[in-house]
Amino acid sequence: MSAIKLAIVGVGKIVHDQHLPAIAANPDYQLVASASRHNTVAGLPGFASIEAMLAAVPEIEAVSLCMPPQYRYQAAQVALAAGKHVFLEKPPGATLSEVADLEALAAAKGVTLFTSWHSRFAPAVQPAKAYLATHAPTAMEVIWKEDVRQWHPNQEWIWQAGGLGVFDPGINALSIVTEILPAGIFLNRATLEFPANRDAPIAAELHFQSADGMPVHAQFDWRQTGKQSWDIVLQTGGGEVRLSDGGARLWLNGVEQALAKEAEYPSLYQRFAELVRGGRCEVDLAPLRHVADAFMLGRRKEVEAFFD
Ligand code: NAP
Repeated sequence: MSAIKLAIVGVGKIVHDQHLPAIAANPDYQLVASASRHNTVAGLPGFASIEAMLAAVPEIEAVSLCMPPQYRYQAAQVALAAGKHVFLEKPPGATLSEVADLEALAAAKGVTLFTSWHSRFAPAVQPAKAYLATHAPTAMEVIWKEDVRQWHPNQEWIWQAGGLGVFDPGINALSIVTEILPAGIFLNRATLEFPANRDAPIAAELHFQSADGMPVHAQFDWRQTGKQSWDIVLQTGGGEVRLSDGGARLWLNGVEQALAKEAEYPSLYQRFAELVRGGRCEVDLAPLRHVADAFMLGRRKEVEAFFD
């Protein structure tokens, strides 16, 4: 089977950290070009816009869109309209409706649209999901606290409307939550803390429940210094389930479990290739829907201005 001719759009931190190594290691892909306003990928033809790239390199079959979410729809629309398969970085867009529009366009064009959620491929996620399928959870606590200065230096888009603020990492937690729980949850109440000088929240506290009343409490905070926390803890009839380090480690009843090696982005690219070869779409908006609900239902609290 010939390799999928792939291009990257929006060359920045995550492209260098994860996409390029994952693509290079996967024979399903041949990376043929990039489009980015200021950046290029060494050794590849680079273009300033997706339109220029698709015009110059018509053999491109698929694109990975890695720019900030506020700018993803326009590029995705251009790519799908041109009959290209599309891999969307997380979060898949700035609104639910724009992604629904892309889903309809992908179906009309008969191409693949993939809403990628990298944290769902963390090694603890499937073992935790399997355990919870036979040990019903009764309560869940999500603690996602990190230092924004360490992880997002100079990323202005993340503080702008549509950049999601602390929900940019928080949506990773929600992508795990929505993957491992045997039943759906919905938001009851929330408080979102907005720095006086920013359009996106720096912290959020969320109270969800499942249809049968299981409480899910989540705390997202970007002001954490020292130890960083990306933990999900569930109580079940069969004891405690703890995922930590963003799903890299798993404890069942206090006993740490042996897990596969971390391979989030290699797994995403493997899934995307399967979808392209199988002529299928995978569009799951559940994590983004919970974030949208938080912005809709959450009480807004102004907190002290944030400066990098
Ligand atoms: P980034 O480095 O700040 O941005 C990626 C690239 O997008 C930039 O280098 C820029 O390239 C382009 N870009 C920036 N503003 C743009 C605009 N207004 N219009 C069009 N293109 C623009 O961000 P990142 O950290 O790679 O994150 C990108 C996406 O990946 C986000 O959705 C994020 O949630 C996700 N992600 C990030 C991480 C991480 O650790 N950083 C992890 C997982 C997922 P040009 O200036 O050359 O156009």
